[in-house]
Amino acid sequence: MSAELDELYQSIILDHNRRPRNFHAMDDASTHAEGKNPLCGDQLTIWLKLDGDIISDVSFQGSGCAISKASASLMTAAIKGKSRAEAEEMFSKFHGVVTGAHPEDAETLGSLKALSGVSRFPLRVKCASLAWHAMHAALLRNDAVDAAPVSTE
Ligand code: ZN
Repeated sequence: MSAELDELYQSIILDHNRRPRNFHAMDDASTHAEGKNPLCGDQLTIWLKLDGDIISDVSFQGSGCAISKASASLMTAAIKGKSRAEAEEMFSKFHGVVTGAHPEDAETLGSLKALSGVSRFPLRVKCASLAWHAMHAALLRNDAVDAAPVSTE
């Protein structure tokens, strides 16, 4: 990676850390989940509003390192308006890029690509993927609620 690209990516991460997008709690969310990364001290909550199969709104709150916060902010911008399947696919590609397993997928990630350099710092992979794991957990929790027996009263 060229030094210029490194700088560009760093500025995206710093910007999202300083001014995180969609950084608020959500009263009327369909589902939410918390994520914790004890290794670094990152913790955050992700809220999702689902409109059928579409993630119509997403927000987060929490505290942690610049990577975890910037990653959560970039994620909310990336998955808003996407279908659940699209969001899960993005997670899978993002994970492949930050772990270094599939660096070639970075080109398909848009601004999420800014975090691809994390693959050189294995301890930071958990920071970068924390919000995504919480998003995934929130979707699963929503399914569990849907699948719960419904009272006929
Ligand atoms: Zn962290």
